[in-house]
Parts: sequence; C-alpha cells; structure tokens
Amino acid sequence: MPPVVPPIPDRTDQYFWDGVSAGQLLIQRCTSCHTLRLPPVPMCGTCHATTWDTVAASGQGTVYSWILSHHPSEPDATPRVVVLVQLAEGPRFVSNLIDVDTDEVRNDMAVQLCFREVDGVTLPQFQIVAPRPECVPQ
Ligand SMILES: [Zn+2]
Repeated sequence: MPPVVPPIPDRTDQYFWDGVSAGQLLIQRCTSCHTLRLPPVPMCGTCHATTWDTVAASGQGTVYSWILSHHPSEPDATPRVVVLVQLAEGPRFVSNLIDVDTDEVRNDMAVQLCFREVDGVTLPQFQIVAPRPECVPQ
C-alpha cells in the first residue's frame, strides 16, 4: 500500500479535490447563512440548508496546534509535522507543515498554503512564512 492513499471523491468533496487540482484550497460556504465549513459536509450545521457554494482560501493562516508524527511501524524518512492551521477566513484545516526544522515550530506562527505531490497525490500543505526584514530607520 502506498504511504498516501489516493482520495476517492464523492458528491460532498469532489469540489475540494477539483480545487486542489487547480491549485486552490476551496472552502464550502452555505448560500443561506454564509457559514464557512471545512471539511465539507452535505448540510449546514448552523441553518440546516443544503445549498452551498465555495470560496477560495487566501492561503494565509497561523498554526493553531501541531504534533510531531511518529508512525508506530512505518516511520517517515524525515519527521512529519501535522498542523491544525487557523485559516485567515476562519475555519481550521489539518495539514502538514513542510520544509521546516521541527525546533522552529510554534503555535501562532504564520504559515502559507502550498501544494506538494506526495506519492503521486497532490496535497495542500503549509510552509512557514519567511520573516520579513526589520524596517531600518533612515
Ligand atoms: Zn447555513
């Protein structure tokens, strides 16, 4: 079995994987009350409407929480940081934080969406936003 099991989209999450293929992280939005929801569900938990559309996430977020994953029988070649990202739009999203020294990871650090192919499957991932140089007074 490959380490990443390819998604099998259904009516509820086909839009999500279509968005990933197009380089977007799409968030479901209730067309009745405009509540955003991620992961997708067929009915709004706020107003019970079943109609929805999508909005594209900006890709900006912060680390809400994280763990260093240790698979018990098939460890990753490099440590894998699993993060719960607080998206700028409001919903939280579980993903991986990549290209990071595990000693650097902190809650509330700014992260940016990127897409990375893993075992033939394109996945939404996150990277640390590079700190901007300090303004130097003139
Ligand atoms: Zn609603």
